[in-house]
Amino acid sequence: MKYVLLGFLFVLSLSSCMKGIHVDLVVHNAQIHCLDDQNTISQAMAIKDGKIIEVGPERQILNKYSADEFVDAEGKEIYPGFTDAHGHILLYVKQKLSLDLLDCKSLNELVTRTEKYQQKGQKKFIVGRGWDQSLWGADSMPDNTLLNKAFPNIPVCLYRVDGHAALVNDCLLNLAGISSTKVDGGEIRSRNGKCTGLLLDKAMDLVQDKIPRFSDKEIKDAILEIQEELFQYGITGVHEAGIDFEDIAIFKSLMESKQLKLAIYAMLMPSEKNKRFASENGVYRYKNLSIRSFKMFADGALGSKGALLKNPYSDDHQHHGLLTTPLSEMQELSKFCSKIGYQLNTHAIGDSANNIILNLYKNEYLINKDHRWRIEHAQVIDRNDLHFFSDFAIFPSVQPTHAVSDQRWAESRLGKERIKGAYAYKSLLEAFGMVAIGTDFPIELTNPFLTIFAATQRKNKDNLPNDGFLIEEQLSLEQVLKGMTSWAAFAAFEENNKGTISKGKEATFFIVKRPIWNEMTFSPNFAYSTYISGKMVYKEDELN
Ligand SMILES: [Zn+2]
Repeated sequence: MKYVLLGFLFVLSLSSCMKGIHVDLVVHNAQIHCLDDQNTISQAMAIKDGKIIEVGPERQILNKYSADEFVDAEGKEIYPGFTDAHGHILLYVKQKLSLDLLDCKSLNELVTRTEKYQQKGQKKFIVGRGWDQSLWGADSMPDNTLLNKAFPNIPVCLYRVDGHAALVNDCLLNLAGISSTKVDGGEIRSRNGKCTGLLLDKAMDLVQDKIPRFSDKEIKDAILEIQEELFQYGITGVHEAGIDFEDIAIFKSLMESKQLKLAIYAMLMPSEKNKRFASENGVYRYKNLSIRSFKMFADGALGSKGALLKNPYSDDHQHHGLLTTPLSEMQELSKFCSKIGYQLNTHAIGDSANNIILNLYKNEYLINKDHRWRIEHAQVIDRNDLHFFSDFAIFPSVQPTHAVSDQRWAESRLGKERIKGAYAYKSLLEAFGMVAIGTDFPIELTNPFLTIFAATQRKNKDNLPNDGFLIEEQLSLEQVLKGMTSWAAFAAFEENNKGTISKGKEATFFIVKRPIWNEMTFSPNFAYSTYISGKMVYKEDELN
């Protein structure tokens, strides 16, 4: 009887909500951080057809609207869905489907893990990802001697964590016909005229077509697994930093079957097929997939000493790093993007690579003041070059977790002077007025709360270093949140639809489990529930 009465009261209370303007969803009893220009915090919002109709005080919204569904946020905070402004879903897919070498503590462990993997799987071709020699003590790059002993007859290709180096065995070198040590935009390490098995940057392309491609089913399943991981952190969009032509169809087919709900802002790799796609389609949109940019590589990475520096490495006076794409090719792509109205996003790590790209982008500013062309990473900047970002409206796209991961060895690579322009997020923000913020997953973890902590405290998840790494370059909590929401939207020409919780924008947001604040030590946080265009796409397991 009690339940019948309760049911009756429930129907009664629903019908009392049936007056007023009818919408699909009302979310109330919340602290809604709109992240708009006024930094409004509100209590309730009304949503219809995937868009926000109104945001306002609790009573105002509840009195004005009836809805199919009411969500009581129980006083929790709500934020616009986070965008990871630089991630690699497809690389993460490959990592998930390959041998996991993350956190290997030595070259021996690398080989042992590979042997164990092979004992279980009996693969015809072994691909692994995630090793980092800087965790092995001496910080010198490995060679393939041990790998050749363990695997004389099966090709093995083991990628470094940053994807800018690969250790391959002689069996694969022979299969790919690599004997010379010369390659443009890359390096084939050799000793006494013999390849050591270490391939840097463009040299890795020489083995690329030998590596077996995973099946579409394997790729799709892994993408959906990654989507679930992102949703649990409130991430609703990714700027996918470099895709091949074949990947467009994979994303489209997952969106067509309504399985992929994540917004993907895809940057095309500059292949002939992709250029043809861009020429034919112009600014392209299919459901939540947006394509209107190219990704280009100016240099390698600092960890593998491929980042192009103006002066030699402080810990290796023979090396300046690598220009991975010839200047003429970069100029050509830049002209092509300009002609078809595409954005150009260039990976530049070293101060020399950044200088080259800043000068290249300068020309675009003379044609189009609102070009939003981005430098991805903008990791080491000669402080005398910072003015380019403001003078020519060049958009810095940065990943604060790189700073706290690299802090162990960055100064030894760069020296005391150059480090002052490294991971200089505050300086970059002051120069351009915005920064787009991402993680570069799977090179770093997808967790945006680690990004918030790294940007504000300049510490890693173990709260190191104690005083924060280059602490003078820390961002405020508001700045890092905007870097993952409204500024990321601007970096993708999506500021009219996304990035803030405001009237007329997409109802894409998440209710966070614990309040987000500027905490001094790291503690985990998650989304309680995540919504895209007014539809719930994730809810925390009730048992957690
Ligand atoms: Zn990247």
